[in-house]
Amino acid sequence: LIPYINIHTHQIDVHADRISIVDYLTTALEQKEQLPFFSAGIHPWLIDIANINLQFNTLNVLALNSNCVAIGECGLDKLKGPDISLQIPIFEKQIALAQQIKKPVIVHCVKAFDVLSNIIKKHQGKTSFIIHGFNQNEQVAHQFIKLGAYLSFGAALIHEKNDRLRAIFEQTPIENIFLENDDSPTSINQIYERAASLKNFELDVMKELIFANFKKVFTHE
Ligand SMILES: [Zn+2]
Repeated sequence: LIPYINIHTHQIDVHADRISIVDYLTTALEQKEQLPFFSAGIHPWLIDIANINLQFNTLNVLALNSNCVAIGECGLDKLKGPDISLQIPIFEKQIALAQQIKKPVIVHCVKAFDVLSNIIKKHQGKTSFIIHGFNQNEQVAHQFIKLGAYLSFGAALIHEKNDRLRAIFEQTPIENIFLENDDSPTSINQIYERAASLKNFELDVMKELIFANFKKVFTHE
């Protein structure tokens, strides 16, 4: 059976039919050390400059856990968190960690796509970048597809009022796509169903194609 891949979530979403990558440090969960798949990163909103070494010590330990399959979410946010000039080196240090342990990076980016593009260019080919919660215009989508990044689409595929994002999704090559439910109450199954119908695929085909991307990025198959 091909599993659903929920590439990024803040909720416990453990079911036999899916692989859910839970964001460890932003999720207030009991027994989260038992999660079969998680990601760990320093989210830009949670950067604590006075204690940044401590934050990296925590991250470095988590990153080596065999259930930690990705670094993130981490990245850049011009609307929240410390000044962007402080966020950049902290993001790049996490990219270096990801490269060192050969795990992909789950990226949070708000209003800093030009900076992100330059950073990805610098690290292109050394690690995979998954831009989570993608909800940008066609030009930005194209820019990151060209860089070989992955765009992860979520509940906005269902709930956006206008069709702009759905049109961008339809045009994004399937090789560059992941799906997620993030902090939305919409289930990953519902997001897959909408995604499959937008792409004109049977649900099972959609699951196979996303699983192939997952294997490529996470197990280097
Ligand atoms: Zn998130």
